[in-house]
Amino acid sequence: MIRAPRGTNDILPPESYRWICLEALLRRLSKVYNFEEIRTPMFEHTELFSRTVGETTDIVQKEMYTFQDKGGRDLTLRPEGTAPVVRAFLERGLDGGALPKKLFYLGPMFRYEKPQAGRYREFMQYGVEILGSPSAYSDVEVIHLGVRIAEELGLLGTTLFINTIGCPVCRKNHREDLIKHLSRRAGELCPDCLARLDKNPLRVLDCKNEPCREVATDAPLMKEYLCSDCEQHWITLQSILESVGLEYTVDPTLVRGLDYYTKTVFELKWPPLGAQDTIIGGGRYDGLIEELGGRPGPGVGFAMGLERLLLASEKGEKPIEPVMFIDCFVVMPESEDQEVSQEIANKGFELLSDFRCSRLSGDFDPLRRSVRAQMKHANRLNAKYVAIIGEEEIKQGLVTIRSMEHGWQKQVSVDRVSDFMKEEVLGGSN
Ligand code: ATP
Ligand code: MG
Repeated sequence: MIRAPRGTNDILPPESYRWICLEALLRRLSKVYNFEEIRTPMFEHTELFSRTVGETTDIVQKEMYTFQDKGGRDLTLRPEGTAPVVRAFLERGLDGGALPKKLFYLGPMFRYEKPQAGRYREFMQYGVEILGSPSAYSDVEVIHLGVRIAEELGLLGTTLFINTIGCPVCRKNHREDLIKHLSRRAGELCPDCLARLDKNPLRVLDCKNEPCREVATDAPLMKEYLCSDCEQHWITLQSILESVGLEYTVDPTLVRGLDYYTKTVFELKWPPLGAQDTIIGGGRYDGLIEELGGRPGPGVGFAMGLERLLLASEKGEKPIEPVMFIDCFVVMPESEDQEVSQEIANKGFELLSDFRCSRLSGDFDPLRRSVRAQMKHANRLNAKYVAIIGEEEIKQGLVTIRSMEHGWQKQVSVDRVSDFMKEEVLGGSN
């Protein structure tokens, strides 16, 4: 038997209903904050990610699905959404239009990681980007949206962690002291961090290995090295967060796993999730547009993993309950008379087709088992109504309608039954 690749998921009903609900919620909230949808390709030139996410990051060093196509192009299944959005923003000339541009995306990402609960090789991300705004209000706008999503899903007790990692100017001074600190304790670092120490010491602060985290705790703090612009942004950010009542914790070791971030970085965690408890990660990336060949311009955004969000939702206060039903199941009993049996099937199927044309959802049993079995099937599908069209009904030109919710049963003439059902199900709304 051929199995699905490691780290991928098949989303089956009823789980797929939860996905539909979650995606609808995300689209609804995107609209509330006025973000418009963008869809970019599933694969991009490898260089897009190596140049922006960073050569020394886990994503680029270990996690990318990179391949050559038959034309010899170096391509990569997208591991994240921000670089592609900024690429499209520049390539399609959105930078020449009205700014800021507020975009959201919803789609699969691919990373070669060790699969575990909440960590997969193909996973769905929702993300938002505000391109062209340097304002700290824009930082808070995206953070507010992230927190609202968690609230709407009934996740009580999320914690918002924020930090600033400055800009290239302040980072230069910090970098020297950080390298000194890390070099002194080089013996405690993992081989990856040792290799990154000179090239990208900030990465060491993002390492998940316990000894490295220990070294990170008393590393020199970025906030001591901020230039006046970054300092001002950091102070303003916190005052706006407070003014809209967003509680936060400053985590001076939070740096995030992508190189393009500047100034604000943040994560939203929900501890009941356990090891993979970060549901949202984001920050500001004021150098990214320029890095990709645009005129210098600021940006800020976040990404959230939908699998983790759904895992969380199931453990939360308001689990998404899929509502699954059909409006009407058509029961077509067999008759001993072959010809009548055929007529029942024809009439029943015609009726079902009429229902469907009136946008009533419906189904039947193509295997035409016993009436008992057909009723059981209707129950399994959670049918609100059952329409029975048997030998008696055919003779009299009637259909028996049974309300499964209220228990009543009525006979309606074949000619009127479609209108009757429309009125019953859709009421005045049609
Ligand atoms: P982590 O620290 O958990 O590896 P990350 O820093 O790599 O996360 P980002 O690149 O910021 O994550 O992605 C944002 C969000 O996407 C994460 O907070 C998480 O919800 C989700 N995510 C990231 N990687 C995966 C994955 N392999 N499987 C499922 N969800 C993921
Ligand atoms: Mg990761």
